[in-house]
Amino acid sequence: MPFKKADPNIVQFARKVLLDVSGDDAGCLDGQSKICNWLQNQLKDQVEARLCELYLMNWLAVDDEATTKKLLSEVYSEIGLRNLVPALKDKYPFLRCVHSSPLKNIGLRVAKAIAAHRKSKSGARAGQRVGWIKYKSWAKEWCSVEYDEPGKGWDVSEFGWLKLTFGTDRDGKRLSLRVRMVRPPKHIAQARTCRIIREGKDRYYAVFTFKKQKKARRPFARAVYIDPNQKNFGYALDAEGKAFEIQNLQRLREMECTLDALKAKRDKCARKSLWVDVVHQDGTTSTHWRPSRKWTSLNQALVRLELKVREQRKHFQFSLANQLFRHYDVVGIGDYVPENADHGKGRKYNRAVRNRSMHGSFKDTLQWMATRSGKRAVVLDETGTTRTCHVCNHVVEGGIHPSIREWDCPDCGTHHLRDENASQNGLRRLLESLGADAGSPQMHCLGPVQIIGRCDWRFHPQGWQGIPQGCANVNLMRLPEYRQRCVGTSVPPGGDTRAPGSTLRRFA
Ligand SMILES: [Zn+2]
Repeated sequence: MPFKKADPNIVQFARKVLLDVSGDDAGCLDGQSKICNWLQNQLKDQVEARLCELYLMNWLAVDDEATTKKLLSEVYSEIGLRNLVPALKDKYPFLRCVHSSPLKNIGLRVAKAIAAHRKSKSGARAGQRVGWIKYKSWAKEWCSVEYDEPGKGWDVSEFGWLKLTFGTDRDGKRLSLRVRMVRPPKHIAQARTCRIIREGKDRYYAVFTFKKQKKARRPFARAVYIDPNQKNFGYALDAEGKAFEIQNLQRLREMECTLDALKAKRDKCARKSLWVDVVHQDGTTSTHWRPSRKWTSLNQALVRLELKVREQRKHFQFSLANQLFRHYDVVGIGDYVPENADHGKGRKYNRAVRNRSMHGSFKDTLQWMATRSGKRAVVLDETGTTRTCHVCNHVVEGGIHPSIREWDCPDCGTHHLRDENASQNGLRRLLESLGADAGSPQMHCLGPVQIIGRCDWRFHPQGWQGIPQGCANVNLMRLPEYRQRCVGTSVPPGGDTRAPGSTLRRFA
């Protein structure tokens, strides 16, 4: 069932579940994926042959409307392309080993790729060029096996187990596989579609999609503004006057250095790799690049680490968004993007800044979480928030250098913490923009808020921790003098009544 235009009150979301796959079962899944991959390449050939035919007919001025129409529909329409699959099944019987649902989806995937290419060529989507469909190499990328209809070819009715149905073998016997899922979500029975993917060499996952009714919008009572910056992830200030600095992912930097080192090592080995000629059975030869053994092993390590970094970034963003929306109804964030410019600390540093910051993708995560939970995320223009004094609105000419963390307003003499002042301005903008919106009567306070407490938020895989500011080590929190220090000064965000510094509840 192709996706209908989404109902605005329904949100779709996906859950990735690890599969506990043994060696034999992995072979089965690989086989299915390989066949899907082969079909995709075959369809590319089929489509190109038809285009060739069309071109020739045009060139020879053959006027056969019916044939032209048929060929065009087989190339350019989803249904036409999908209908090529049954004919191929007759010609290549091994395709029958795969359930018809994934095969059909390969057809749809190719059709979508062609449509995207046409659309970008016609200029409908400016800026993004989508190339013509390419051959896929299974060795490089595992082709996902997609079941897109509820209960067709897959079954999760037995909790904790996924039953996949494949095609039939040579004798017409239906093949199937039953695999255990690692920690499936409780509502697994409501899954709509199922897609099998592989990450790295041996981790198989099932991605299920779910549909959920959107929650009704609540009045926006509690608001927070995040001033994104480079030193930390951001500095947040809420309307009650609690300020907290959101710290960046701690180990990311080290891991990225390791990534660079691994990449350099691997690329050195590329020189020792070989071009190999292979003589096939029919006497033809082909040449392909064969990496050295060292290259292969380094590459594997690299892929694993890249995956880990990606997962950690995702985890960081989702848990932060979760945590924010647990405490607040509206989250405003400045539209800061690290400039694609020279930061004066060398080429490597410039690149690292561009790569490492997650602010761009975090905005999308925040928007998505807001939609899901009936809350609201606002992206605000943050020009001038740092250089403007929030008390008297004096604007410092030429801005304030990033190295200056605290300053005094030359006009009214107020002492400012750089990031906090920016957050004050941002929060005011956020409240003003909400005030302009009808239906949020709670927003009466538009002036600068009185700071009643400061703390740091630190990411921890088990949940976010609120720790007193300047406390470098979480373990120090166990010492009484530190605990003493944070009483009264660091208020856990959102009126959490537990002792400051205690681990906040694990996110759902
Ligand atoms: Zn001032």
